[in-house]
Amino acid sequence: MKQNEARFCVFCGNAPRDNNPEHVLPTWLLKLTGDPKRTVSLGWDYQQNMARKFAFSSFVFPACKVCNEEYSKLETAAGRILTKLCNDSAINVMDADIILDWFDKVRIGLWLGFHILDRNIFGIDPMFHIENRVARKDRMLFVTHFIDQKKKLTFLGTDSAVFRFMPSCFGLLVNGTLFVNASFDFMIAARAGFPYPKEASVDADTMLLSANCWDIANKVKIPVIRFPFLP
Ligand SMILES: [Zn+2]
Repeated sequence: MKQNEARFCVFCGNAPRDNNPEHVLPTWLLKLTGDPKRTVSLGWDYQQNMARKFAFSSFVFPACKVCNEEYSKLETAAGRILTKLCNDSAINVMDADIILDWFDKVRIGLWLGFHILDRNIFGIDPMFHIENRVARKDRMLFVTHFIDQKKKLTFLGTDSAVFRFMPSCFGLLVNGTLFVNASFDFMIAARAGFPYPKEASVDADTMLLSANCWDIANKVKIPVIRFPFLP
């Protein structure tokens, strides 16, 4: 796989030390959904102006050995929890926290992965990497099951220009289960009963968020997210 000349670790953003490439879509997930070596279409190759195809197992990006190993426990736990969710089994609060961390990791990993694959065609200078975006902002996971349970793995929304500039939401179809993950500042804070700013703005130069006029409802409002995910 061709990668950007300016190589960086997808976890910490530094030059990878003892490079141990990261499978953004982990091997356990590839096995759960079919032959891990299968060739798939992975978005549009803007350099070649054609659909990008290669083996799922080769969808790897630079990472420090230490950084990669640090997240191995998360991968083990995520595999167990995601399988439960695919089987429509209940998970506890701790499992919910872990699987949300994992979706943060995969979402940002895909964002940085396409950034590298496309040789930064959008001219973006990433201000964060996996390690400083996991469990940092409000996040949610919507899960629904389809009747068709054929083995498949597809990610949705990650190849769009919007995602390249704001990697806050994506979909992951695992066999017959669709996961929609979203995360951004104060996304659910107000309705979940946490402090939230009534005024917020982003500085166009620094892209830093400024929040003022804090308030708190001290109660959870149902539904926490007022968006109809299903028709
Ligand atoms: Zn690193």
